[in-house]
Amino acid sequence: MINREAYKRLAQACAEKQVTLVAVSKTKPVEDILALYDLGQRDFGENYVQELVEKEKQLPKDIRWHFIGHLQSNKAKLLVGFVHLVHGVDSLKLLKEIDKQSAKLNIVTHCLLQVHIAQETTKFGLNENELADLLLLLQKEPIQHVQVDGLMGMASFTDDAQQLRYEFRQLVTLRQKFGRPGFPLSTLSMGMTADHTIAIEEGSTMVRIGSMIFGER
Ligand SMILES: *Cc1c(COP(=O)(O)O)cnc(C)c1O
Repeated sequence: MINREAYKRLAQACAEKQVTLVAVSKTKPVEDILALYDLGQRDFGENYVQELVEKEKQLPKDIRWHFIGHLQSNKAKLLVGFVHLVHGVDSLKLLKEIDKQSAKLNIVTHCLLQVHIAQETTKFGLNENELADLLLLLQKEPIQHVQVDGLMGMASFTDDAQQLRYEFRQLVTLRQKFGRPGFPLSTLSMGMTADHTIAIEEGSTMVRIGSMIFGER
């Protein structure tokens, strides 16, 4: 069961601020996705490759599918061709594999580089030095069939608003530091149910929201 009122408020707030709302539908049935689709939602996010592939087959073709989980290189080929944006890229190996699979189809796949901004050590992502190295490599040896649109980050699991702000600002700062003309890193995917208000205040351009819309998992 989706929460229509919460969704409508959220969609309105995002539209006003020109923030893309990605509805995170992991573990939720296709019926819930369709109910939200009928309200006009088109961007949906999933974490698991197999689940995404199954859902994609059953749902309308104009859905923009975002892969927000951690993608293993050997699974990239299952997503390339229909995925709209891969949020969690954090290695050159994975970028190269996405590039290779995209080249076969003669398409460009859009990706975000995941940066580690949280205090917790468990979350995936690049640190600043790794990001700098990866961007340098991309500058030297451009990858033809991948376009890096920006950065993605997950903040700490905390109620501490100051801490959350600090973490989101890191992503904004990295964009300022590493973005350049022709490679603006314009997309900042940051903010989930618990912290999206702060993320938007800090400059998020894309929020990934699950439980607020679809209920607890
Ligand atoms: C599950 C998930 C979300 C959505 O989380 P909610 O707290 O339910 O809004 C966002 N981003 C990522 C990477 C996720 O795995």
